[in-house]
Amino acid sequence: MKKILKISEGGQGPLDMVLTQLDIAAQKLKIDPDIHEKLKTPQRILIVSVPIRMDSGKVKVFTGYRVQHSMERGPCKGGIRYHPQVDLNEITALAMLMTWKCAVVNIPYGGAKGGVVCDPSQMSIYEIERLTRRYASEISIIIGPDKDIPAPDVNTNPQIMGWILDTYSMNLGHSVPSVVTGKPICLGGSKGRLEATARGVFFVTEQTCAYKGMSLSSSSVAIQGFGNVGSHSARIIHEHGGKVVAVSDVSGAIHNPEGIDIPKLLAHISQNKALKDFAGGRVISNKQLLECNCDILIPAALEGQITEENAPRIKAKIIVEAANAPTTPAGDKILNERGIFVVPDILANAGGVTVSYFEWVQSIQEYFWSEEEVNNKLRAIMTQAFTEVIALMEQYHVDMRLAAMMLGVGRVAEAGKYRGLWP
Ligand code: GLU
Repeated sequence: MKKILKISEGGQGPLDMVLTQLDIAAQKLKIDPDIHEKLKTPQRILIVSVPIRMDSGKVKVFTGYRVQHSMERGPCKGGIRYHPQVDLNEITALAMLMTWKCAVVNIPYGGAKGGVVCDPSQMSIYEIERLTRRYASEISIIIGPDKDIPAPDVNTNPQIMGWILDTYSMNLGHSVPSVVTGKPICLGGSKGRLEATARGVFFVTEQTCAYKGMSLSSSSVAIQGFGNVGSHSARIIHEHGGKVVAVSDVSGAIHNPEGIDIPKLLAHISQNKALKDFAGGRVISNKQLLECNCDILIPAALEGQITEENAPRIKAKIIVEAANAPTTPAGDKILNERGIFVVPDILANAGGVTVSYFEWVQSIQEYFWSEEEVNNKLRAIMTQAFTEVIALMEQYHVDMRLAAMMLGVGRVAEAGKYRGLWP
């Protein structure tokens, strides 16, 4: 498995990074070395070929992955991403992060992740539908409501979850809404799921501000990425009085030290206009956004954005990792030395999977909750996890990332101990 995954000692890739974090947490917790060894590799890797007919009439063959890291604490859970940079190492790292994330918020799942190497911005909606249905069919041998439940991730959305639900259900001959989460509400999706990751980011940002003696309403915030998580985070933070001074997407970034008018920006984007063409801010580069003057920086795009190269110039006092693995280990070290407080991904962005859990419970019971109930339960879970991570951080005098890892890895290891080894 290690050979297939090309793990390099001290490497800065996402998988090297999560393995280093696991080693440090396991050492600190003095975890049984046998259990530690088992947690280093995913339980299953499925690589599938996804041939589809393009609109031109020609067949193109894509590559897809589904990696199930652990089912120690329950069925596997994790999103599916469509991106040209998807590879097996990245998906494995993200699956592993899902295991710890679900354990940090104490929901009964193990971790998984899936992805297809493709550029959806260059594909028609019909091509994306065919790609989704063929990929769903290929991975249907390992997914299912009590096996592994996919959800949206980078470049996937409720419509794509609807197609997965339909493909899986058509093959079985009956409707199985609990096979995916993040699906449209009319198909059994949960109220509040679409913005759940962002709402969770908002809750932990608010709590971090309180912990650090700051107030979110008098803080300036820069957000990298304006997809589902970034745009909803900007909206919710703005609604609660936070001043969003910089935002970016793939087209570029804009900056306004007086605060960007987020409702106007959202209206601009909804007309299919590029973010960088918004008149309410000065155009800057993505690089400048990360280094701009702000109190709170929220990376909400891809992994590996904060590195040893730019970490020395970051001005934020707090970083809330809305993306998965946005900071490299070398970058993290510099942030720590500079006293920048980092709220790690496995806590900061766990709101998404938490409401996915609520959605799964509702789908199985066919009994649906109000948005208020969803948001209140989400707040309770995020607050509990935040408090537990801070307590470990103070008890062991470690940074917040290691404390969150210790909470997550510790819970998985405890489950592993009681389950024992088969056969
Ligand atoms: N893709 C999201 C994440 O990375 C959500 C996963 C889920 O809801 O299963 O946490």
